[in-house]
Amino acid sequence: MAVAGLIAGLHIIPGLVNVYLLETADGLAVVDTGFARDTAKILDGIAAIGRAPEDVRHILLTHAHPDHIGGAAALRKRTGARVYAHGLDAPIIEAGGPARPIHAAPGLRNMIVAALLSRLPGKTAPTKVDGLLHDGVAVPFDDDILTIHIPGHCAGQVAFLWKRAGGILFAADACINRKGMVLAAAQEDVGEARSSLTRLAGYAFEVACFGHGPPIMAGADREFRKRWL
Ligand SMILES: [Zn+2]
Ligand SMILES: [Zn+2]
Repeated sequence: MAVAGLIAGLHIIPGLVNVYLLETADGLAVVDTGFARDTAKILDGIAAIGRAPEDVRHILLTHAHPDHIGGAAALRKRTGARVYAHGLDAPIIEAGGPARPIHAAPGLRNMIVAALLSRLPGKTAPTKVDGLLHDGVAVPFDDDILTIHIPGHCAGQVAFLWKRAGGILFAADACINRKGMVLAAAQEDVGEARSSLTRLAGYAFEVACFGHGPPIMAGADREFRKRWL
């Protein structure tokens, strides 16, 4: 399945890392861009919803890990869209990596996964970041999409809260949804990651979308409070 509608105006291109297409107040926005190899799949998804590459006006990057920014340079070039990221991660995106060091979250499985992840190439195609995202401030092109800075997994990581359908949270890798919400295997700072999840649990949202794993389509804020408070 190349692309699936979640709710009106929101589409997911599912994969090892999820990519989202949002029909915003100012054209199509893409949240995260997958690995470099995912660009063709994203362009297919855009075509499948009846849009052209040029309809993509904005690329929102949640954090500077290769699985989320790998396709940003190619997608920016192909679409002419503006790229946005938090100021702490923008220099990594513009330099094409490497990301800051990450450590295993507690648990044996996380140790193994984090060790495997640390062996992946950390380099990405460099791309200009056209605009910075700020905590507690709407994204520059749509007043209905709030930026929430959620350091921990990555110091410059941001979530987005879209004022639609009772609230749609894009949680990035604050946690992953693998048969229930769990911390991602690799973290820059586990303590900060937990604080960020506590903070997210304080917002109201019906739907939660993750970088990894399927979305929660109803009562998502209650699930966050149950799991992270
Ligand atoms: Zn990540
Ligand atoms: Zn990720």
